[in-house]
Amino acid sequence: MTVPSAFAAARAEILEDIAHQAALWHRDPAGIRLMAVSKTQSHESLENAIACGQRLFGENRVQEAQAHWAQSGLLDCTPDLDLHLIGPLQSNKVKAAIGLFSTIQTLDRISLADALADALAKQNRKIACYIQVNTGEEGQKAGVAIKDLEMLYRHATENAGLSVTGLMCIPPASALASPHFALLANLAKHFNLPELSMGMSADYKQALPLGATIIRIGTALFGAR
Ligand SMILES: *Cc1c(COP(=O)(O)O)cnc(C)c1O
Repeated sequence: MTVPSAFAAARAEILEDIAHQAALWHRDPAGIRLMAVSKTQSHESLENAIACGQRLFGENRVQEAQAHWAQSGLLDCTPDLDLHLIGPLQSNKVKAAIGLFSTIQTLDRISLADALADALAKQNRKIACYIQVNTGEEGQKAGVAIKDLEMLYRHATENAGLSVTGLMCIPPASALASPHFALLANLAKHFNLPELSMGMSADYKQALPLGATIIRIGTALFGAR
């Protein structure tokens, strides 16, 4: 865990990188959001992050997110908090997930699209979904295969009526990240999707020039987990 001033300094540095890249590429800096990935963090770190002005957080697991934000009371006392799910979602957690998150970044299969549509209809709610793409075509990795992306996109938007607004990827750990980011950007362009969630602590500097609209940062903000 890092001390409070370390979070603030790390955050300022990343925001500066964002501003710099936005200027270079003639992009609106407001169109590039810094997500703090808060898995495994203590209540004190989350409170401190909020005190530093951070509002967009990513969580990997529904139950941990509920403990971090709902049960802790942080959600109730931070009205403009924006929580995204960035970890795999099981269909039996869909109901809880849509009660907490504004965006599910990990839509990766037709059955999940249907489960989300069902639960949203029952609660009369709308949320945004990004499709997670397995750009590295790794066997065990979450995310839809590139060849199945079109089918999932059509099903999610036309059959299930979901609001799909972006794509997300996690490049293979051993690979150079840039080609995966370039590929994801190209796919998003093909489907005319505005949001690109790509880039983590080790590779966000590569993601920014390739069009990331959300970078997902854990250790570079909070310190090692
Ligand atoms: C943990 C995690 C991150 C943050 O990783 P860091 O390397 O700590 O920045 C980003 N995205 C996803 C999907 C994660 O699981």
